[in-house]
Amino acid sequence: MQVSSAHADVIVVRSAIWQTTCTLVHRRREGDERPGECFVIDSPVLPDEHEFLPALLEQTGWSVSGLLCTHGDWDHLLGRLAFPGVTLGCAETTAARLRAEPGRAQGALREFDEEHYVERDRPLSLGHLQALDLPAHVGIGDAELDLLPTEGHTADGMAVWIPWARVLVCGDYLSPVEIPMLSETGNRDAYLATLERLRPYVEQADLVVPGHGARMDGQQALAVLREDVEYLEALPDPGATLPLARRTAAQKAVHEENLDRLGTRA
Ligand SMILES: [Zn+2]
Repeated sequence: MQVSSAHADVIVVRSAIWQTTCTLVHRRREGDERPGECFVIDSPVLPDEHEFLPALLEQTGWSVSGLLCTHGDWDHLLGRLAFPGVTLGCAETTAARLRAEPGRAQGALREFDEEHYVERDRPLSLGHLQALDLPAHVGIGDAELDLLPTEGHTADGMAVWIPWARVLVCGDYLSPVEIPMLSETGNRDAYLATLERLRPYVEQADLVVPGHGARMDGQQALAVLREDVEYLEALPDPGATLPLARRTAAQKAVHEENLDRLGTRA
């Protein structure tokens, strides 16, 4: 696991598994020296990483007022294993997806744990979800987070823009380690539309935190965005070129999966 400070109010934790990121964002009220509010966006995956998060917050003096998730894939939903009892906020699309698939995240987590012999102290309970109609602003200290709808990787989700820190937490888009992974319904155009929605934020970002992989500065993220658009626009051509830095066996398998999802193969 890696911990890095992205800004005085932003800490990024990167899981040892899949480089899944978790972003802590904090904001005080001006003139008030007491710690302000803190949101935890997404989650790391391993039990010791969940144990570490409250200890990390204790060090910083921040206390958690809420959890947010960028989308409903199980590896991003584990915040309550670190902070039981804290409410999880998500896009209305994510809430609808989780309601439509009760127990799916828990089942996937159990499967992962069985495969990797991982033991946990408690089962995952998502509790009462706070569904947010997007786009939306969420108050934090004396500021606001901007929540933007995303779709294409999954049919649900959101990105979080932290205006005063110029940090974009974008969920499973713009990853330096993964090529675009299309949703089960293979909606390439929705994915491209999401990238265009994110583009103006990426252009003014100091840092972009992808759902998987190391954080990037705005220039690096723009390069990934350009490569992703190029790759997606070449689909459904099976010979679409994968971005040079992401041409691994695992990403070639993702490309095959994308072709299946586009339904263009016999
Ligand atoms: Zn993911």
